[in-house]
Amino acid sequence: MSRPTQIRIDLNALKHNCQLVKATAPDSQIVAAIKADAYGHGSVEVARTLQSEVARFAVSCLEEARHIREEGIDVPLLLLEGCFSADEYTTCETLGIDVVVHCETQVAHLEAVTLCQPIHIWLKIDTGMHRLGVMPKHALALWARLSAIPHVTVSTLMTHFASADEIKNELNARQLHRFMAVKQDIHEASPDAIFSTSLANSAALMSIPQSCGDFVRPGIMLYGLSPFNGTHAIADQLKPVMTFQSSVIAVRDIEPGEYVGYGNTWQAQRHSRIATIAAGYGDGYPRNAKSGTPILINGQRAKLAGRVSMDMITADVTDLKEINIGDEVELWGQNLNANEVAHWSDSSSYELVTRMPTRTPKTFL
Ligand code: PLP
Repeated sequence: MSRPTQIRIDLNALKHNCQLVKATAPDSQIVAAIKADAYGHGSVEVARTLQSEVARFAVSCLEEARHIREEGIDVPLLLLEGCFSADEYTTCETLGIDVVVHCETQVAHLEAVTLCQPIHIWLKIDTGMHRLGVMPKHALALWARLSAIPHVTVSTLMTHFASADEIKNELNARQLHRFMAVKQDIHEASPDAIFSTSLANSAALMSIPQSCGDFVRPGIMLYGLSPFNGTHAIADQLKPVMTFQSSVIAVRDIEPGEYVGYGNTWQAQRHSRIATIAAGYGDGYPRNAKSGTPILINGQRAKLAGRVSMDMITADVTDLKEINIGDEVELWGQNLNANEVAHWSDSSSYELVTRMPTRTPKTFL
C-alpha cells in the first residue's frame, strides 16, 4: 500500500473560480497569479487549465517564467519582481514577458540595453504599501524616461493594495486616490499617451469595484480561498481547489490523565480514543497547529490532540462514530476550509497551500 497522504487538485473548481472572477469584474481582463507554483497547486496544470480564460499569467521571477515556457504554454507572462540586469530584459524579449518596473535602477538598465522588439513595461506605483513601486512624486519623470526609450512600450500603470482584505481600512481609499492622481498627471503631461491600468488583487476585485481597472490580478481567489475574515457574498461562492488528505493508521484508547504526543502537551480528561493520522509537518501540515484544530475523519469533525510530529498527527476521536485504520481524513479542502485550519496555527491559507512539500504527491482531477 502506498502512503495515503496526498493533495487533490480539482481543476473544475479552478475553472469555476475563474468564472466568478469574470462575473465579478466583467469589464477587466484577468492576469492570473501563478507564482510560487500557483500557490502550491502546480503552475503548469493551472496554466494549462486557465490559458484560454486569461490575458496573462503573473509570475514572480524569471525561473518561474522559463518553466511555463518550457512546458509549451505561450500565454503572455508578467514578471512581478522585474529585471535586475540588462541581460534579463533580453530574455524577457525572447520569452514574450511583460515586465514590471518598480524603481529607477530598472529604468537605467532598460536605457542601457538594446532590444529588437519593443518590450511591454508595467510601471508600478507605490501608493502606500511601501514594498515595491516608484513614489508618486517620481512617477511622471520615470514615465517620461521610459517613454523616450525606443524599445519600450509603457503599456500599463499598476499598483498593489496593502489591506484590501480589510474592507473598512482607510488606506484602501488613500491608495486608490494616489493612483488616480498619478494617472491624471500622466494624461495631462502626455494627452496622447495610451495605457491600461491594473490595481486589484482578489480582495480588491471583490470589495473595491472601482479598483478593477483594465486588468485584475487574482491569486488566492482562483484557488478557491477567501482573502477575508468572515463571510463575504462573493467569496462564499468560491470552491477550494486543493484538498489535503490522508488516512488513519492507528487507533488506541487511553485512560484519563495520560498524555499524547511529544512534550506531553495534551492530557486526557476522560477515557479517550486517539486516532493517529499519516500526515505531519514533513507533509505540509503546520507544526504550530494548536490542539483543537479541526480534522475531518470520515466526514466527522475530530480535534487535533497534542503536538504535530514530522510524519503524523493525533486526533481526539472520543465523540466520533466508529473510527478504524484506513478511514479517510481531510486535513483541509472542499469540506474543511484551509482558512479555518490556518486560524488555529496563527497562519494564513496563503501560507498553508503554498508551502506544501514535494514529498506530498499531487493528483489532478
Ligand atoms: N498582484 C501582485 C503584485 C501580487 O504580489 C499578488 C500576490 O501577492 C497578487 C496580485 C495576487 O494577490 P491575491 O492572491 O491576494 O489575489
